[in-house]
Amino acid sequence: MIRVVVTGAAGKMGREVVRAVTAEPDMTVVAAVDPLHAGEVVEGIRVTGDLRDAIQASSPDVLVDFTRPDAVAANVRTAALAGVDCVVGTTGVPLETFGSIAAEAPEGVCVFVAPNFAIGAVLMMRFAREAAQYLPHVEIIELHHDRKADAPSGTAIRTAEAIAQARAQVPAAPGRETEVAEGARGAVVAGVSVHSVRLPGLVAHQEVVFGGPGQTLTIRHDSLDRTSFMPGVVLAVRSVRERSGLVVGLEELL
Ligand code: NAP
Repeated sequence: MIRVVVTGAAGKMGREVVRAVTAEPDMTVVAAVDPLHAGEVVEGIRVTGDLRDAIQASSPDVLVDFTRPDAVAANVRTAALAGVDCVVGTTGVPLETFGSIAAEAPEGVCVFVAPNFAIGAVLMMRFAREAAQYLPHVEIIELHHDRKADAPSGTAIRTAEAIAQARAQVPAAPGRETEVAEGARGAVVAGVSVHSVRLPGLVAHQEVVFGGPGQTLTIRHDSLDRTSFMPGVVLAVRSVRERSGLVVGLEELL
C-alpha cells in the first residue's frame, strides 16, 4: 500500500484527491492536512493542522499538495526533507523553487510537479507544440473559476514555453503600442500573448488559437469537472517513488 498524505485536503482539489486515492486498491490516505480546516472530516478522514506532526505520526510515502502558492513550498520542503516523495499540483510558484528543494532533499526523493494533471490538457500542449512549427502566430486564452489565486495559469505558462521552443520565429504581436485600455492585448509569456478570464461557473479551460493567411486553428481543452485531474494524480502517486529529483509534467510519466 502506498501511504499518502494530502495537503489542502479540505479544498476543492484536495477533497477530490482524498476520494480518488481512497478508491484505489494499492494506496491509502494516512493523513489529511489543512490548517484552517483542522477537525473537519473529508471522506471519513479527520483533517489535522500540522504537516510535520502528520508525517511523524503516519509515516507517509508520498505527499500530494493542492494548496496555495504561498503555502506549497513550505509543505513540499517539510515532506521532501523528511524523505517523502512529493506530487505537486499547486500552481503559481516558479519551478526553480521546487528544483532547489529537490536538491536539498535526501538522495532518491522525487519532487514531481505538473501544472495540469488532465490527459486532455497534456495532449493540447503537445498538439500546440506541433502546430507552432507551422503556424508561428498564436495567442492563448485561458479561462478559470473566479477563486483561482494565480494568473496566468500554470498550464498557459507551460503551453507558451512549449510554443516558444517549437516555433522557429517570433512574429510581431501588433496592437500593444496602441492599447486603449492597458492590458487589452494580454500578458506576454515566452513571447506569446496570454489572456486570462476569471468567471464563476468555469473550472479550467484553455484555447490555443493559431492564425495564418486565410485560416485559423483552435485547440481547446475543457476540464468540466475536477475528476478530470484524478487519473493523472493517481498515476503520479504510483510513479513518483521510482523517480528522483525534480520531474516536471505529466507527459514525463505517460
Ligand atoms: P482551494 O479550494 O482554495 O483549496 C486549497 C486548500 O488548501 C484550502 O482548503 C486552503 O485552506 C488549504 N491550505 C492553505 N494553506 C495551507 C497549508 N499551509 N497547508 C495545507 N493546506 C493549506 O483551491 P483548489 O481549487 O483546490 O486549487 C488548489 C491549487 O491547485 C491551486 O494552486 C490551483 O491552481 C491548483 N490546481 C492545479 C491543477 C493541476 O492539474 N495541476 C488542477 C486544478 C487546480 P483555506 O481555505 O484556509 O485557504
